[in-house]
Amino acid sequence: MSCPLCESLSATRYSEDKFRQYLLCGNCTLVYVPRDSILPFREEADRYEAHQNDDGEPDYVAYLTRIVDGIRPRLPKPKFLFSKPLRGLDFGCGKTTLLEKLFSAHDVEVDSYELYFHPNESVWNRKYDFIVLSEVIEHLSDPRGVMLRLSKVLKGSGKFFIKTKPYPADPAVFDQWFYKRDMTHVQFFNHESLSQLAKLLKMAGPHKLGDDIFEFY
Ligand SMILES: [Zn+2]
Repeated sequence: MSCPLCESLSATRYSEDKFRQYLLCGNCTLVYVPRDSILPFREEADRYEAHQNDDGEPDYVAYLTRIVDGIRPRLPKPKFLFSKPLRGLDFGCGKTTLLEKLFSAHDVEVDSYELYFHPNESVWNRKYDFIVLSEVIEHLSDPRGVMLRLSKVLKGSGKFFIKTKPYPADPAVFDQWFYKRDMTHVQFFNHESLSQLAKLLKMAGPHKLGDDIFEFY
């Protein structure tokens, strides 16, 4: 079993609960669930159906508004006064396209992509000024492949904004950590593994913003 981020074969057991094992990559320090124990596609889709947020919920609107407000000051600056609006991609948007709507109020055009609910494959033919993955990267069964594919649709001056909760350094705290109980979360990052991700993408970062948002530029 190789690390789904750096492909290293070196791993040690980090934690275990009644559902799954968690391995610690000896190279990039990613904590990941062995791929033979992750949910099959259909079952995962059903879980998303049950848990996804609704854009009518005020808490969800407030949550996404905070993310938009955190990202906006860090967006690439338009080169000229009359440049086209910035174009972003909300990758793994979930059931709704609410982030897209919130950005459009600031003249930022955002496309929404989501494997289960918005499989808009035209995004792969575009070029983006920025790409947001909000609570998405911990779900990807192939984070390395997906991030490399996404980096091809990011402009040279573009940025990634990745929101994910870093895992606790102490395995005893990890054992009790709510974030790993979500069976659709299949890997967990810390500063070191996010730095390795930056290297993989040939980008600088991670630069930590508030609310567990990490900028790569
Ligand atoms: Zn690794």
